Amino acid sequence: MKFIRFLMFLMCFFAIKSNAKNDFEIKKDSFPFIEKVFLEYQKNSNGFAIAYGNLSKKEIALTFDDGPTEVSEKIIKILNTYNAKGTFFWVGERIKNNEKIIQFAKENGHLIANHSWNHENGFSFSKELLWESQVAKTLNEFSKYAITDVQYYRPPFGAITQKQIDFLATKKIKTVLWSITTMDWDPKENADDLMFQKFKKNMHSGAIVLFHDFDYGNLDSKLKDLEKILIYGMRKGYKFVSLVDF
Ligand SMILES: [Zn+2]
Repeated sequence: MKFIRFLMFLMCFFAIKSNAKNDFEIKKDSFPFIEKVFLEYQKNSNGFAIAYGNLSKKEIALTFDDGPTEVSEKIIKILNTYNAKGTFFWVGERIKNNEKIIQFAKENGHLIANHSWNHENGFSFSKELLWESQVAKTLNEFSKYAITDVQYYRPPFGAITQKQIDFLATKKIKTVLWSITTMDWDPKENADDLMFQKFKKNMHSGAIVLFHDFDYGNLDSKLKDLEKILIYGMRKGYKFVSLVDF
């Protein structure tokens, strides 16, 4: 019996140790929460890859990927309540039949940007094919709905190479990554208050915050946490702006 207890103690000890190791690995790549490769892209792309903005200006860009959906409308209403502007990275093939949401975002001063044609992993394309079949195809669809001058592209899953970034730069497209992720797409991480706590811990001047205007579960928690983020950030003197005002 004593031996079994000892064995259980050992198992717990190692479980705690391996968790600690994971934490360390996450922090190692953080600035405060930026993946190392994003920092390299920003350093090497002459303004054409952005993971964060001005680190000494108290401004934050909230960004929302994967719409448009009916969630977009709910998010825009919350942003409007706090006089905040957001950036919406929308998927080309989802634009059709969403004129109302497009109009609602535009007339309230939010920015619409490019999140590929059909949300495929960018690593599977050559730089030319990424431009033609994902980025330019979406811009063409956008233009049919009077969404013009779109210079920002966010790669699905953050999956992009330096070569692709450089090629998009020749087309005057800026690749936007992020410095804080709320993990709102992950059912293990998007319960009440968790998204707000991640933001609060990592909040910084020039932050680009990743959210999704898509219901990946716990939508009510997401909307509540978004509101808490806006209230907390404003109380600390931050302004929430779209990427053009960044
Ligand atoms: Zn996405």
